[in-house]
Amino acid sequence: MASVRHDDNGSVYVQVEPLNALVSETFTRSGCSRAEGERIATRLSGANLRGHDSHGVIRVPRYANWLNDGIQVADVTVDVKLDNDMLAVIDGKYGFGQTVGEQAVDIGIAKASKNGMAITALQNAGHLGRIGDWAERAAAAGLVSIHMVNVRGSLIVAPFGGIDRRMSTSPFCAGIPMSNGEDPIILDMATSVVAEGKALVALKGGKPLPDDAIVTDEGVVTGDPQPLYGTVPQGQFPDPNNGPGALRAFGNHKGSGLNFLMEMMAGALTGSGCAGALNEPKRRFCNGMFSIYLSPEAFGHSDDSFVSEVRSYVAFLKSSRPTEPGGEVLIPGEKEKQVMAERLASGLPLAGEAWSDIVDTARNAGMNESEIETILGGKP
Ligand code: NAD
Repeated sequence: MASVRHDDNGSVYVQVEPLNALVSETFTRSGCSRAEGERIATRLSGANLRGHDSHGVIRVPRYANWLNDGIQVADVTVDVKLDNDMLAVIDGKYGFGQTVGEQAVDIGIAKASKNGMAITALQNAGHLGRIGDWAERAAAAGLVSIHMVNVRGSLIVAPFGGIDRRMSTSPFCAGIPMSNGEDPIILDMATSVVAEGKALVALKGGKPLPDDAIVTDEGVVTGDPQPLYGTVPQGQFPDPNNGPGALRAFGNHKGSGLNFLMEMMAGALTGSGCAGALNEPKRRFCNGMFSIYLSPEAFGHSDDSFVSEVRSYVAFLKSSRPTEPGGEVLIPGEKEKQVMAERLASGLPLAGEAWSDIVDTARNAGMNESEIETILGGKP
C-alpha cells in the first residue's frame, strides 16, 4: 500500500512509520536531538493512532513555531527542586513535554515502586500532549496513577455561567494496570466539551464539533469552531488565543468545577501557576501536572486480587443493555483501542490542509522535495 493516499473528499491517509520518519526529521533539523525528534513523532502519531487527532501530528507546525520562538526548548533535563521518599517537585524548564513528561513520570514510577506510593509535581513543562501516554507508562510498571493537568497561559475555556475565558482545557487522566498482557484501563479527558485541538481539526475540515462546544462573544452556544480562532490571516496557523469566543467546560457546573480543581492541583499546588490572574492574564505557556502513583501491593494486594476484581467489575459494567440496538457499553480507553486497530490497517486519516501544513513545516526545516519523497516513499 502507498504510504500516502489521497481520497476524493480531500482527506489524506498516511502510514505511521513514514509519517514518524518525516516528523522526527523535521524536529531533528529544527534543533532537537534525533532521540527527541523520534519521541515527539512517536507520541504525536500515537495520539492519532488512538483517535485523539487533536493531540496528534496536527500540532507539528505549532510545535515547530514554539521551538523557533523559544516557547519550548530542545533536549531539556528536568531539575528536581524538592525530593523525598514520597514527593518530587520537578521543574520542566519549558522542555518538550514528550521529553520532560517522560522524565517526571519515571521519577514517580521509581519512587512508587520503592515506597508503594508517590506524588510528583511537574512545573513549567512544554506541551505534554496526550496525557494517557503518562498513565500508560505508569501502568506498564504495574502502578495505578492519577494525573491532573492545567495549561498556564492558555485562556480558552469559559467557566460555567461566564462568557470570558478564564480556564484552560485542563485534562484529567487515570490509569489502572492489568496483568497477563492485558491492556491497562485509561481514562483520559479534557475538562472542556472537547480538547482545543478538536476545534482545530474541525476548523481544518475534519470531524465537526458537538453543537454545545463553543460560546461566542455574545454568549451564544454553537458548534462552529471559528469564534475560538477569529479571522486567521492568510499563511498563518490558527491561534486559539486570538478569537473572541471560548470553548465551554463539559458537564455544565460539574465539569467547570472539575476544571477548577485541575487549576488548584496542577497550577497552584505544583507551583507551576494557574491559567491566568487578574493582574497578569497573559502568562507564559506551559503545562503543570500533579500526579499520584500507587502500587496495588501497598494496599495489601498480593498475586492478582486487585486485577481480578477490576476484571470482574468490567464484565459486570459491560453487561448493561446497550441503549442503541447493536451498541456496546465501553470502558475508558476501549474506544482508543478500537480506533487503533482500524488505523494501523488504514493509515492515519488527516484533513488535506493539516497534511499540507505538516509537509510545509518539513520544507521550512530545510528538507527538499526529493528528501521528503524519499522519506515518504512517494509524493506527499
Ligand atoms: P475524548 O472525549 O475523546 O475521550 C475522553 C474519555 O472518554 C476517554 O477516556 C475515552 O476512552 C472515553 N470514551 C470515549 N468514547 C467513549 C464511549 N463511547 N463510552 C465510554 N467511554 C468513552 O477525549 P478528549 O476529552 O477530547 O481529550 C483528548 C485528548 O486531549 C486527551 O488525550 C487529553 O489528555 C488531551 N489533552 C491534553 C491537554 C494538554 O494540555 N496537554 C489539554 C487538553 C486535553
